[in-house]
Amino acid sequence: MSIVLENLERLKEAARLENISDEHLSVLNTPVQVSYAELAVGDRKLPAWRIIYNRALGPGKGGIRFHPEVSEDEVQSLAFWMSLKNSLADIPYGGAKGGVKFNPKDSSPAELEEISRAYARAFADKLGQDKDVPAPDVYTNGQIMAYILDEFEKIKGAHEPGMITGKPLELGGIALRGDATAQGGYLVTKEMIKKFLSGKTACKIAVQGYGNAGLFMAEKLAVDGHLIVAASDSKGGIYNENGLDIMALSAWKNSGKSVSEFAGGQAVSNAELLELPVDILVLAALENQITADNAEKIQAPCIVELANGPINLAADRILANKKTVVVPDILANSGGVIVSYFEWAQNRTGQILDEEYLRDLLDKKMKSGWQRVVAKFEEKNGEITLRQAAYIIAIKRILAAEKYRGRIK
Ligand code: GLU
Repeated sequence: MSIVLENLERLKEAARLENISDEHLSVLNTPVQVSYAELAVGDRKLPAWRIIYNRALGPGKGGIRFHPEVSEDEVQSLAFWMSLKNSLADIPYGGAKGGVKFNPKDSSPAELEEISRAYARAFADKLGQDKDVPAPDVYTNGQIMAYILDEFEKIKGAHEPGMITGKPLELGGIALRGDATAQGGYLVTKEMIKKFLSGKTACKIAVQGYGNAGLFMAEKLAVDGHLIVAASDSKGGIYNENGLDIMALSAWKNSGKSVSEFAGGQAVSNAELLELPVDILVLAALENQITADNAEKIQAPCIVELANGPINLAADRILANKKTVVVPDILANSGGVIVSYFEWAQNRTGQILDEEYLRDLLDKKMKSGWQRVVAKFEEKNGEITLRQAAYIIAIKRILAAEKYRGRIK
């Protein structure tokens, strides 16, 4: 089943739990705007998308991904998740996502600049601080955002820093953005440990995906005394049941090497890492990592989805039967877009807010998201999943906005 169809299944399942009618739900069945272009770069033509799934709550908002596996199905699913994520986080955004299908690891810095500028030109009419606001996602970063902003402003002939977030500080970015996804994930993981692991100390944790989010999250959890026993990246992983030296591993990774070549543990594949006997599994890589093929073999009682969509629908059901606690992506990784919102708000007002104040606000927003999801879960006597609880809250806010707009009765 495509990811899009799986999402619609999940949507229906959650809606049924709350007696939301199919008629109301139908406004969420399809994206409101699908834009496609082929970016001509050298002698290559790269497929590129920008999709707004829903904009009842505000302009489109969501990252741009550069990856060889990008497809319309994936971008649409990511845009759908952004719609729910932004709604759950109580920020004034719809949901959107973009992507370019190519391998950035095979491209020179000059080519990456060309591709970023070509992307801005292709979608300039669709983007803007009140239309649709991109940000970094897998294999894109502040520099890529800077090229897109620069090209966009050239076309418009005016400054508009609020058209994109995750920018370098000098262009109106915000210091907090770098580790915001990890910080948000870390805050909900702490809450999860309190509630579902009886406040256990020195939890054993495996992190699949030692990229930006996974690395910062592992560091924060290690500082608290938890044991990061395994970590992996696209080349493979490493396992040490007594805990890896996380600061050394991060320095290794930041020097451009793969965690799989790090001394201090035994080699494990990405697939093996998922099935290790740990307390918490952090999924910080890509979609569809846990499926019907391996869900039964997952030993961790608790999973945190720092990536978008790492567990598919079939696996969701198996894990729910096993009573595995899954902190869903739309909550666990929402710290990134929450800080994007702070950046956007600053850009629009010109007011520079104190960093401590914003850190505190991120903290409060993550905790409030967690509390609302847990309250819904408890209202249903713990018989639904945390994902279903989060979906219910997110769907209801979007549908309420659609109702005020008169699109549903
Ligand atoms: N790409 C990130 C996500 O999936 C951040 C999106 C944003 O900041 O707009 O949530």
